[in-house]
Formats: sequence, C-alpha cells, structure tokens
Amino acid sequence: MKQKRFILPESEIPTQWYNIQADMKTKPMPMLNPQTRQPLTAEDLYPIFCKECSQQELNTTDAWIDIPEEVLEKYCYYRSTPLVRAYGLEKALGTPAHIYFKNESASPIGSHKLNSALAQAYYCKQEGVTHVTTETGAGQWGAALSYATKVFGIECAVYQVKVSYEQKPYRRSIMQVFGAQVTPSPSMSTRAGKDILTANPNHQGSLGTAISEAIELARMTPNCKYALGSVLNHVSLHQTIIGLEAEKQMEMAGEYPDVVIACFGGGSNFAGISFPFMRHNILDGKKTRFVAAEPDNCPKLSQGKFEYDFADEAGYTPLMPMFTLGHKFQPALIHAGGLRFHGAGVIVSQLLKDGLMEVADISQIDSFSAGCLFAKAEGIIPAPESCHAIAAAIQEANKCKESGEEKVILFNLSGHGLVDMAAYDQYLSGAMMR
Ligand SMILES: *Cc1c(COP(=O)(O)O)cnc(C)c1O
Repeated sequence: MKQKRFILPESEIPTQWYNIQADMKTKPMPMLNPQTRQPLTAEDLYPIFCKECSQQELNTTDAWIDIPEEVLEKYCYYRSTPLVRAYGLEKALGTPAHIYFKNESASPIGSHKLNSALAQAYYCKQEGVTHVTTETGAGQWGAALSYATKVFGIECAVYQVKVSYEQKPYRRSIMQVFGAQVTPSPSMSTRAGKDILTANPNHQGSLGTAISEAIELARMTPNCKYALGSVLNHVSLHQTIIGLEAEKQMEMAGEYPDVVIACFGGGSNFAGISFPFMRHNILDGKKTRFVAAEPDNCPKLSQGKFEYDFADEAGYTPLMPMFTLGHKFQPALIHAGGLRFHGAGVIVSQLLKDGLMEVADISQIDSFSAGCLFAKAEGIIPAPESCHAIAAAIQEANKCKESGEEKVILFNLSGHGLVDMAAYDQYLSGAMMR
C-alpha cells in the first residue's frame, strides 16, 4: 500500500525557527517610528510587545533562532502535524500532479495560529507580563492565544471584529471556555473605538479597528502586552516550524515541491510553509514557485500599493513598508475573516517586489466550491481561509492535467472549518452571490 501520511517522531521535530531575513539578498526596508520617522528600534516596540518578540522582529542577521524548550514541549502535544498525499483530490481532478497538504488543522485549536500563540505567551510569561490583549477576526487567533495564555497562566482580553463576533458565535464561546474576555470591535471601551463609532455608528469592524483597540488597552494597562497573530516578522518566524517539518516530511515521501501554496491574510501561514523552501531558491538555485492565494475583494498583493502604511485603523502601529490597500480600507464582509486585512507583512512584501513569489486572486464562490470538492475527496472541512489555498492548488493541478506534467504541489491547510458551517450553509443554499 502506498504511504499517504507522513509524521515525524518527536526527536525529529525542528528545534529552531528559520529567519529568512538573514538570507534575503535585498533586505526589507526598515519600519519607521511614526513620530520621528526614524528606523524603528526594539526599544520603540517595548511599550507594546514583549522584549523577546520586539528583538526577533528586527533581527536581520540570525538565520536560525532556538525554539525555547518549554515551547517545544507544548508543540509536541500536536506536532508534527501530518503531511498528507491528497490521493482523493488527485483522483477527483484526474490530474497527473502529486498533491500534498500540510495539515495544520490538526492543532488542538484547529489552525496554525497556535504555533505563534504558544511562543508569544511563553515569552510574556518569562518577562513577568500578567495580561495580554489582542485582536481577532474569525476568532482563530483569539482562540489560539486564549488557550496559550491559559497554558502559561496569563490573563487574556480579545477584541473580536464585530461582524465575525456575530457571524461566528462559537469561536467566541471557545475563547470564553479558555477564560478570555471577549469584546466586539469597534467598541466604546477605547478612545479608538469611540472615534470610529462616532464617525460611523454602523462600522462592522475590521482587523484594523480591533488592533487599534487592543494596542490602546495594552498601553493603558500596567504589566500588559499586546500580541499580534499575523503580519509581523516574529509571527512569520514562529510559523516556519510548518515548512521546516514539511521539508523533512517531503523527503520521507521522496519528493520536493515544484509549487508551494498558502492562503494569505497577513502572510504568516504563507511564510511558515514557504520560507524554509524559499531558502533553497535563494541559496541553492532551486526553482520552486510560491503562490499566495488572496481573496479577490481584499487584493492587497495584486492591487495594493507598495508604500509606508499603518497596520491598524487608528495609526498606532509603526509605519511599515508593505503592499497595502490603505489602513482605512474596509474589506467586503467575506466569510474568510482571517484574510480581511488591508496589508501584507514587510518580508513578504519585499519578496513579492523582488519576484520571489506570485499571487492568485480567488473569488469567494470559487473558494467554497474548491473547499467542498476537497471535503468530499479528503474528508476534512477546510476553513474558509484555507479554501483559497485549495482553489489555487486546484488551478495548478488543472494546468498539469492540460500539459500532462507530473508536478509536485504542496499547499498548507491552515485550518478546519467546523466552526464556520454557517458560511458553508450560505454557499450550499445558493445565497452566496460571489
Ligand atoms: C488567520 C488565518 C489565516 C490568515 O492569516 P495568515 O497570517 O495570512 O496566515 C489563514 N487561515 C486560517 C485558518 C487562519 O486562522
């Protein structure tokens, strides 16, 4: 029987994360302190983020960063996640391509977000932080951080984008089970929230509004830090555990990917699966293609401008050189809440500029159609975000069908959609317009 699932023994789980900044030929432009317009220093970040993450954020020299023992120990409860050969999907498509997916939905929280949540909560605990605030869209990051802070004995307050708070009530319940305090954003509990609601009482919220509120609370509360679930360099760094495992698992399968695909919100799961393989493009002349799948109605990579912009609505964050639709951009109310963000991370923005990666724009209808096909073929209901990666993988597999090429396609299944069934209901009933 052919092997379908590749798992690493605990002793083979990577003990370091990979920092691609050290190997990039063109380094990203510096982030700027918005007051002074000078390149950001780690000290500029200390009032908001824990120290270790602030330093990791600006580290452009160390290619390998040790995963703390305590974090590794928590990783081992669910890692390695399986690498799966998608024979069912290949058959359904009639493609000669070999399709693999890395199943991050197998984490206890149901997505890749836990990989960074555990690291951030651990560093906060080490530094004596007692409270953490954050934003969440669909609730995946909030759920991951609520659990991770519980693991390390820290209190957690989450601002959840209002439309998701209402669309996905069970994610809120999950966060509350882990003991987090959850507030829909924009709210009247912060200055930023009040300003946004005064200007537009019907504002449905965005990751941009929720980030502003969470940062403000972190600044106003003693011993409290803010934790971000995507976009930033240190978050991408923590997610490289995905690709580093996948590299070893592909070796077990006796293959190497021609194309690596992930959905794209702020870029962390894309970075996670891609960077370890991209390293071999940069250093060893490999020719793997990297495709970021973004929603066509939040097309920051294909339509955004490369410029300095804020990561939040109120403009509290550092100025970041990135592809952005503008920090006041209000994305359409698509179900893939994790992809409703106006900008892209600094590293991925530079990589896109330098032609090291490509973009696929996917419509919501196509994403759900791909997700349902995948569910029937592989038995896993994918998160609406992950459906975008699946749609892009199917496009690649169909190209192979036309050309007869046996390419190796690897995509990241960033999460499962078991808490997103209302979105599937809407798709199945035909009520989803596009
Ligand atoms: C948050 C999330 C995303 C998008 O975030 P990235 O930082 O771009 O990875 C994608 N998939 C799932 C399941 C998510 O929860």
